[in-house]
Amino acid sequence: MNKESLLTFIPSFDSTEMVFYSVMRKGYPINSIKINNYNNTINFMRFFFLLFLSLLSPFYISAAELLVEAESFPQKGGWVVDQQFMDLMGSPYLIAHGMGVPVADASQSVTFPKKGNFYVYVRTYNWTSPWFLGKGPGQFKLTVGNKRLSTVAGVQGTRWEWQYLGKVNIRNKQVVISLNDLTGFDGRCDAIYFSTNKQAPPSDMALLYKFRRRLLNISNVSRRNEHFDFVVCGGGLAGMCAAMAAARQGLKVALINDRPVLGGNNSSEIRVHLGGRIELSPYKELGNMVKEFGPVKWGNAQPAGNYMDEKKKEWIDSEPNISLFSNCRVIALQKKGNSIQSVLAKHIETGEEILFTSPLFSDCTGDGTVGALAGADYMMGREAKSEYGELRAPEVADKLTMGSSVQWHSIEGKQPEAFPLFEYGMIFNEESKNAITMGDWTWETGMNFDQIKDFEYIRDYGLMVVYSNWSYLKNKSIEKIKFQKRKLDWVAYIAGKRESRRLIGDYVLTGNDLMQYKIYPDGTASTSWSIDLHSADSINSKFFPGKEFLSIAVHTPIYPYPVPYRCLYSRNVDNLYMAGRNISVTHVALGTIRVMRTTAMLGEVVGLAASLCNKNQVKPRDVYQAHFSELIELMKKGAGKHGLENNQLYNEGNCLWEKPQIVN
Ligand SMILES: Cc1cc2nc3c(=O)[nH]c(=O)nc-3n(C[C@H](O)[C@H](O)[C@H](O)COP(=O)(O)OP(=O)(O)OC[C@H]3O[C@@H](n4cnc5c(N)ncnc54)[C@H](O)[C@@H]3O)c2cc1C
Repeated sequence: MNKESLLTFIPSFDSTEMVFYSVMRKGYPINSIKINNYNNTINFMRFFFLLFLSLLSPFYISAAELLVEAESFPQKGGWVVDQQFMDLMGSPYLIAHGMGVPVADASQSVTFPKKGNFYVYVRTYNWTSPWFLGKGPGQFKLTVGNKRLSTVAGVQGTRWEWQYLGKVNIRNKQVVISLNDLTGFDGRCDAIYFSTNKQAPPSDMALLYKFRRRLLNISNVSRRNEHFDFVVCGGGLAGMCAAMAAARQGLKVALINDRPVLGGNNSSEIRVHLGGRIELSPYKELGNMVKEFGPVKWGNAQPAGNYMDEKKKEWIDSEPNISLFSNCRVIALQKKGNSIQSVLAKHIETGEEILFTSPLFSDCTGDGTVGALAGADYMMGREAKSEYGELRAPEVADKLTMGSSVQWHSIEGKQPEAFPLFEYGMIFNEESKNAITMGDWTWETGMNFDQIKDFEYIRDYGLMVVYSNWSYLKNKSIEKIKFQKRKLDWVAYIAGKRESRRLIGDYVLTGNDLMQYKIYPDGTASTSWSIDLHSADSINSKFFPGKEFLSIAVHTPIYPYPVPYRCLYSRNVDNLYMAGRNISVTHVALGTIRVMRTTAMLGEVVGLAASLCNKNQVKPRDVYQAHFSELIELMKKGAGKHGLENNQLYNEGNCLWEKPQIVN
C-alpha cells in the first residue's frame, strides 16, 4: 500500500464528493468510503454542524493529515537512504550526502486528503549541534507543487525534531513534493507531515511510533509471513558464508541484510579490504568459499569497483536455497521460553514488515542486535586483567572499544575545485591539520563512546572531522595550493564498525588461549591475524583530547588458532548462533578474530552446524554435546568449491609460523 496514506474522518467540501478515509481501530484498517453527489444543502448543513463541533472541542474532529516518509520517495535524486540509526531515532531517513556539493532533488507525487490550507512540518536534525550551537550545514528546503517554502530546514535544535516550515494552500489533491538540498553537507529528512491542524506530531519516540503506524496504516495483521529452516540476520562476510554453507547442505535459508549491497564492511559503501588467512589447519578446506566471491584487489578506501558488490550478489543469487532480503533491517523478535520464534524485519524504503519464523537463527549483524533483542547475555567494553588474566587487558574494566571509521578519498582534477568553508566547532590549524589525500583505517572515532547508543554521534563526528580538515586544507592551509585541484570523490556515510556487543556463548575465547595456544577439542576454523588492538593516537590526543579521530594499532602475533565451536552460539538463547565480530570472545581476542576471512570461515562453520541441527532436530549446544564428530566430517570437506586457485593472498597479516608449546 502507498505510504502516503491518511486517516480519520476528513470532511471534504468539494461540491461533488465527500470523502471518509480509513479509520484505524485496534490496528484493523477500515477501507475508505466515498460518498458522491451529496446535494449542496446537506453539505452546507454538515459544514455548520462540523464547524460547531470543532468549536466545542478541537479533539472531536481530527485534522486532515498526510504523512510522507522521505525514504520512500521513488525519485531520490542525489539523496540516499540511511538506516543505521533507526533503532535510535525511529526510522530510516534520506540524507543529502554530496560532500559539499548540493545533490539533485528527491521527489514524489502525493495525494492530499482534501484541498485547502495545510501546515507543514519536516522531521530533521541539525546534525552538527553536538559541537556547534547555531545553524548547521545540513540545510534543505521543501517544494510543494509550485511553491518552494522559504524556511530552511535542518538548521535548528539539538536533536531529531519536527521543524515547522509554514503553510501551503493545496488546490489540486495530487501534488509533487520535492526535497531541495542547499549545501551537499548531509541535510537529513525523515518525514514530512501536512495537517489542517497546526499541532506538530509527537517527538516522544513511543508516541511517534504509534503516530506513524496510525498514519501509514501499518497493521500487524497485514504482515507478510515467511518460514525458513535457517534465518541469517546480517549480510557481511560471516552472514553470507553462514547462509551459503547451510544452503549447500540443503537448508532453505533466509539472508536478511539492511543495505542494498552485501559484504558489510567489505562492500563498496564502507570499503575495507579482506584480511586474514584461509586454508589453515586443522580444517584446510574451510575458507574455500571466499575464493568464489572475494574481491581480488587489495586496499582500504579504494574505488568502489574494487569491492565487487555485484560478484557477491551473483554468488548469493546463484544458490537456489537462499532467499535474499536486501534492504531489510531486523527490528524486533518474538520468543517462546528461551528460543526465538520469529524475527521481524522492516524494509528500509517501503516500510514493509516481514515476519520470519524458523527453528534456528544466526546473528551476523556485527552489533549482536538479534541477541540483544532476544535477551542474550553479552559483553561490551574492555574486561579487567583480573577477569581472564590477559596480558593486554587493562587493570580496571572500562567501556572503551575500538572505534568506527568514516573513510574517505580524494582525486586530482584538471581545474581548481572549490570547497566551502566548513567550521562547525572543529577548528584546524597548521599543527593539527592532516595534509593527506585519503583517510584509511586510522580515521577512527568514538572509542570512548557507546558504539550502539551513541552511534549516530560517532558517525557524524567522523563526517565532521573529514569535512573540517578538508576545508582547512582547501581554504586556509599554507599548503592549500597542493590541494587546489583536488576534490573529495568519496566519503563514507555508512560507518565501518569494529567493535560493540559480543554475545556470550558456552565458552569465551581469551587472549591467553591464543597466546598460550590452549587448544580445545571443539576447535573449528583458525584465526590467524595478530591480536590487533586500537587506541587513540597520542598526537591526535594532544590536539583533540577526548575527541580523537585518529588511531594507532598494536599487534601481538599469534600462531593460527582454531576457534572453539562453543563461542559460536548463545549460552542463554537456545536456538541462536552467531558469527562475525559479535561472537563469544574477550575484547583482547576480538583483536584477531574480527578480520573478515576469519569471520567468513566462522560463518561457514555456523552454516554447517546449522545443517546438523536441522538433520538431527537439535539445538546448537547439542551439536557440541552429541554431534560434534559429524561437524568434524563436514568441516573436513568445507562448504566451498574445491580446487580453486587461492586469489586471496593479499592482506593476510603476520602470524607466528612456529607453533608455541602446547599447554593442554
Ligand atoms: C576501517 C576499518 C578497517 C578494517 N580493516 C580490516 C582489514 O584490513 N581486514 C579485515 O578483514 N577486517 C578489517 N576490519 C574489521 C572488519 O571489517 C570487521 O570486524 C568485520 O567486518 C565484522 O564482520 P561482521 O560480518 O561481523 O560485520 P559487518 O561486516 O559489519 O556485516 C554486518 C552486516 O549486517 C548488516 N546488519 C546490521 N544490522 C542489521 C540488522 N539489524 N538487520 C539486518 N542487517 C543488519 C550490515 O548492514 C552488514 O551488511 C576493519 C574495520 C574497519 C571499520
